[in-house]
Amino acid sequence: MKKYPLTLLAVFVLSACGGGGDESNTDSGTDPATPPSSNYVSGNVVQSGSNGYLEYPTTDIGSGYYCADNSDKYFESASVIVYANSAVSDNDMMAVATNVQNNAEPAYNAMKFTELSLSDFKPEYSPQIASNLINYREYNNQSVSEYVYSGIYNQVEWHSFYEIADHYQSLSPKETLVANEYLIKFHDQDDSYFSKRSKKIVVCLSPGMGNSRFAEGTFHGINFAEPKADNRVLQSVYAKHELIHHVQMQHYRISSGGAILIYSLPRWLTEGQAIYLAGQSIAKRSEVSSTSIDDMNNALDLNLYYPEYGLAYSYIHLNNNIDAINSLYTKTASDLISFEEAFDSIGLKNHYGEVMTYSSFKANYQTWVANWN
Ligand SMILES: [Zn+2]
Repeated sequence: MKKYPLTLLAVFVLSACGGGGDESNTDSGTDPATPPSSNYVSGNVVQSGSNGYLEYPTTDIGSGYYCADNSDKYFESASVIVYANSAVSDNDMMAVATNVQNNAEPAYNAMKFTELSLSDFKPEYSPQIASNLINYREYNNQSVSEYVYSGIYNQVEWHSFYEIADHYQSLSPKETLVANEYLIKFHDQDDSYFSKRSKKIVVCLSPGMGNSRFAEGTFHGINFAEPKADNRVLQSVYAKHELIHHVQMQHYRISSGGAILIYSLPRWLTEGQAIYLAGQSIAKRSEVSSTSIDDMNNALDLNLYYPEYGLAYSYIHLNNNIDAINSLYTKTASDLISFEEAFDSIGLKNHYGEVMTYSSFKANYQTWVANWN
């Protein structure tokens, strides 16, 4: 019988520092800057305290904690909500909303989604609360036990939290919603922790970001520096890059103990995918001999190898189906299996069309890319 203490889950929170969706001041985008448009998307500025004001989310927000505590207005367009404090001009909020909204569909398409299909796929509640919700021991109610045993825990070794977490992660978005809504009834309905997320992309303009770190993709959307601090937040390529991180995180129906586990995946996957699919420059194939996958995986400076991440990802991307690649997020989300086990389980191929294991990919990457036409 497998039995793991729940406290093990806390270990993984620590690895969240340094962030899979972090952007630092690397020159990873050489595309010409898209000038800020003077034609903003339509929408409304809403002041905090006014009727119907939507509070900034409380979970899975990264550096968006700034907006959770300090934002006092937002601009809401058809698909974006940009939060800021009163020192930020309305025009800056509108310019950011315009940049994000205009790049959403292209970013989703690069990840093989449309705005509509992503909307169907997104979890409607925080992946953080799922880990609490599926812990049946919190419910002193017979109907919950019956529900979880015969419903979402069906065929599952239910006494193991890890088994349950893995099963939960395998549920379809609709099943996840049904499970959430049943179980949320046993909690305080007014607690924002249990509230449904916005369907829109939630952006925080944070004065805490800028200079060394200007952008971060999150489960809810994007955290950006204020435009006056860093003009890159108005450039298409960075909106697209962060939106790709945002889509990566939608594969997580559950997170362990407070962190979405994307932060523990190799950056050649998470950053490489965002760089490559956003159209940023990547290392040349002829330069592959200088950097191995181990070099990237073991780098102390997480920002050193952005172009190399892009090249490594491009090798996987151009020889495989992106749905299979994206299943790496889903499969590792519950932390039941390691990245290496997930990689080996999906049959990714090299450019010869041969199935490769993660260890063979790591061992042969430089040789294969050098011979790859
Ligand atoms: Zn990134």
